Order: sequence, then C-alpha cells, then structure tokens
Amino acid sequence: MTEVERMRRYIKSKGVVFGDGSRLPELVDCVSADPIPALIERARDQGLKLIYVYDMQAQDESRREQDATIWKNVTLDGRGTWYAIGISYQALSVGRDYAVLVFLHELAHLFTDCIEDHTAAFHAYLDELLTEYNRANGTAIKNDYFGLSDQKPQKAPERAQERSDPIHM
Ligand SMILES: [Zn+2]
Repeated sequence: MTEVERMRRYIKSKGVVFGDGSRLPELVDCVSADPIPALIERARDQGLKLIYVYDMQAQDESRREQDATIWKNVTLDGRGTWYAIGISYQALSVGRDYAVLVFLHELAHLFTDCIEDHTAAFHAYLDELLTEYNRANGTAIKNDYFGLSDQKPQKAPERAQERSDPIHM
C-alpha cells in the first residue's frame, strides 16, 4: 500500500466519504496559481500526502458543515507526521477566490502546526499567505479570521451571522 492509500484508509476509518473526483477541474484551478504550487511542494516536504475533494452532503452530521478540513496523522511505525487536506465540492463551487481562501487556510494549519485551533499566530500566518497570493494574482482576498481564538474573539460570531456559505474548519 502506498503512503497515499494509507492516508486515505486512515481518513476513511474516521467516517469520511470521499468524493468521486467530479470537481477535480475546480480543485486544479484553485491550486494552480502562484504561489500555491510552491506552497504545496513545501507542504509535501512537511508530510502532506493527499489533497482530496468531498461532498458535504455525503458526510455524517458532525462533518456536514465543514467546507474544508485538515488531517494530521502521526504514524505509529516511525514514518513521521502525515497530513491530508480535504476541500468540499461546495467550497469549490463558491468560486476560485473562496476556494483559495479555504485552501490557504488549511495550509496555514499545516505550516503553523496549529491543527485544532485558530490562534492569532495562525491568522497572522494566513494573512502573509494571502498577501503573497494577492500580490501575485492581482486579487483582494481577505482573511475572514474564522474562529479566531485569542485576541479578537468578537470576530467569529460576526462572521457566523454574515455568512450564508458553508463554514470551514
Ligand atoms: Zn481552520
């Protein structure tokens, strides 16, 4: 079994239903603009094994509201720390800028090794990634400070009220 297959099996064992690949063109579009390919290469060096797509509606209730997610698996046989990033059909369907935001959000989790939380340090790092992306692409994607847990706790409720899109982890 390859490392990717092992990671897929691990995620599947947690109850995730993988997508059928029908949104791969949107995923490729999301991850192809600079600096994302280089970021993915760096993430691979740090253990990223898999990027997958899924349909939110096919997940069990506890996962149905996540429009993207990251997995960390510390392997028991000494192969190291592995990560996988999932992005939903629904997030990809909102449009490229939103898909980029949620994808960079998950990469920021990986690079800051802050998987469960959304600290000020996590968001500062995501701000840097967004600045770099916006500069390279002439876009103006803004951090939504999702779930910010230390210094601006007022942000999360505001966002929850404003948004009608699926939320992400
Ligand atoms: Zn998150």
